[in-house]
Amino acid sequence: MRTPFLAGNWKMNLDRRTALDLVGALREHLGGRTEVEVAVFPPFVYLDEIARALAGSPIKVGAQNCCDEAEGAFTGEISISQLADVGASLVVLGHSERRHIYGETDELVNRKVQRALAAGLEVILCVGETLAEREAGRTEEVVRTQLHGGLAGITAVDMARVTIAYEPVWAIGTGVVASPAQAGEVHSYVRGLLAGLFTAEAADSVRIQYGGSVKPSNVKELMAVGDVDGALVGGASLKPDDFLPIIDFAR
Ligand code: PEP
Repeated sequence: MRTPFLAGNWKMNLDRRTALDLVGALREHLGGRTEVEVAVFPPFVYLDEIARALAGSPIKVGAQNCCDEAEGAFTGEISISQLADVGASLVVLGHSERRHIYGETDELVNRKVQRALAAGLEVILCVGETLAEREAGRTEEVVRTQLHGGLAGITAVDMARVTIAYEPVWAIGTGVVASPAQAGEVHSYVRGLLAGLFTAEAADSVRIQYGGSVKPSNVKELMAVGDVDGALVGGASLKPDDFLPIIDFAR
């Protein structure tokens, strides 16, 4: 039984006040509910304060990135132990904006995944194809390469702390959402790849989130797909009016 996992990736949005108001509303709304798992990914500078605001609630706090090195002369970078120190318990890695804007390779993503898991954090590993790749019939090849590359050297035991987010790049921030059939096809392909890389049991336990223009109006039909176990939400995670109905998709 995979607990649905709804996560809000705030990207480089919100200020201190709106961020605190947002998590205050989330905390009050969610109370002690455990039938869904919820996480927020604030910008680095607000992590400490947001983690303190959510202390004692079931809502997890994560980082949007981390450095692949442990410590030292890496100006502008943030280490995984610094993230853990301020209360982050998970990290999003391999997001398409990191891959496409900042040129992150599968090798770099994999070093970050290894670093995060070794430090005891959870990871959301993002994979997904561009529109050109989909139109060229390369979706499975791209997803397979990113998944194999990102998870190199990871054990079946480690996979208990890994969530995969399938985020077609053409659906991120565009308002164009994958159809339930399109999402379902790739999600079941990903689960099959995980079974090949690890064990059938490990693959069956891993949650696979869909990400890309998830909104209150489309979350229910996406979550109805067998292999869709949650959502990684960008724009619609920034306001309680959007994110709370997403969390409540089953109500
Ligand atoms: C994302 O950035 O992970 C994302 C899915 O964004 P949006 O929901 O805005 O498409």
